[in-house]
Amino acid sequence: TYALEINDLKKIYGSGVEALKGIDLTVEEGDFYALLGPNGAGKSTTIGIITSLVNKTSGKVKVFGYDLDNDLVLAKQQIGLVPQEFNFNPFETVEQIVINQAGYYGVSKKDALKRSEKYLKQSDLWEKRNVRARMLSGGMKRRLMIARALMHEPRLLILDEPTAGVDIELRREMWDFLRELNENGTTIILTTHYLEEAEMLCRNIGIIQSGQLIENTSMRTLLAKL
Ligand code: ADP
Ligand code: ADP
Repeated sequence: TYALEINDLKKIYGSGVEALKGIDLTVEEGDFYALLGPNGAGKSTTIGIITSLVNKTSGKVKVFGYDLDNDLVLAKQQIGLVPQEFNFNPFETVEQIVINQAGYYGVSKKDALKRSEKYLKQSDLWEKRNVRARMLSGGMKRRLMIARALMHEPRLLILDEPTAGVDIELRREMWDFLRELNENGTTIILTTHYLEEAEMLCRNIGIIQSGQLIENTSMRTLLAKL
């Protein structure tokens, strides 16, 4: 089974905008996949549908074989989402934020504490566990978003423009962190509008333009064509 399988996915917003015009794509387990495209291409809409934040108009989406239409709860359990905007409560501590997230997914208190230590250490945030999130640097806030998304141990991590507006040094640091996660077995999909970012990180790439997937290939094949 694929980590992600999308067939003929269409989205027409209430406003009449045809954001997705029939997307087909598959992402294999263990892959590091980039969805690349300019602003307005349909990347966020695609991510929104996979994570069930946006309703699709038609088409099929399966996450590790679980169909969003028939097995929504199981599908959602497989996915960790790192949205573009910081959306944690800035007045909660780092540890509260990750522990609460585990609670939403029904993780036991005991496991939540274990995982909190594991993922905060891995994100280099363990020393900051009792600090309120608002006090963290931008890079730490981004790592907190990732640590939080890992608390229910999803098999697929999806990041929406993870390094938008991030300076080059911090971007490199995030790239290393994501590479390590992928090497440890997490399938990763990220959206980006930097080809460079896709090139640095990803094995396979889909290029989306005006709601259509115009390319879906290995990074190596794409680079050979350019
Ligand atoms: P849906 O078809 O998923 O119900 P809607 O078209 O009703 O979505 O829009 C959802 C919300 O997004 C509305 O509040 C709408 O005003 C807002 N919205 C409309 N156009 C855009 C846009 N181009 N980008 C972002 N948000 C938009
Ligand atoms: P990207 O993430 O690649 O920038 P989006 O998926 O946000 O692209 O947008 C795809 C198209 O759908 C754009 O034309 C955008 O204006 C439109 N759009 C996005 N969200 C909404 C919404 N909530 N309501 C109406 N139109 C939207």
